[in-house]
Amino acid sequence: MGKVEQLIEQQGFDFTGTCSARELVVREEVRDACAADKCHIYNTNWACPPACGDIYDFERQMHEYDHCTVVQTVGYMEDEFDAETLLEAGETQRNRFYALIEALDEAGLSKDVMTLSAGHCRICKSCTYPDAPCRFPDKRLVSMEAAGLYVAETCTKAGIPYNHGKNTIAFSSCVLYNDGQ
Ligand code: SF4
Repeated sequence: MGKVEQLIEQQGFDFTGTCSARELVVREEVRDACAADKCHIYNTNWACPPACGDIYDFERQMHEYDHCTVVQTVGYMEDEFDAETLLEAGETQRNRFYALIEALDEAGLSKDVMTLSAGHCRICKSCTYPDAPCRFPDKRLVSMEAAGLYVAETCTKAGIPYNHGKNTIAFSSCVLYNDGQ
């Protein structure tokens, strides 16, 4: 097992699965869904569309890596109105993913891998967009969707479910890396 895989394992994600990074395909429909602004973040963050950049540039970057590991946290809700579990699962995924990024940084690997998060960049309490440049352009967290990936399709490629059944909610992020890392 390589160092990146070891660090992923240490974070305790509920599910992980890996595919070839060169199989990843960006989709215009995903970017269109961002523009529909159901999340109310469109055009409010340097790491989200339209500021984050062109999906085909992301695809070119993705294809420079050998592997893509999807890491996932699943919330099991009491019923469909159980917002508490939903929020907790989202926060757990964020904490695990940010801890993974810190661990990659400490291992000197963060510049050599690509990380795509679940949800918008929350490194700063308040994003500087659009009034001032991004505070941490090398660390900003672009989401899988903002990069143009259809999350359900990516999970399937990585061999893990996107939907874990009735009254469950899954949050997915991914790490792209090369052989020997
Ligand atoms: S690092 Fe800060 S300024 Fe940059 S995109 Fe993230 S929240 Fe915005």
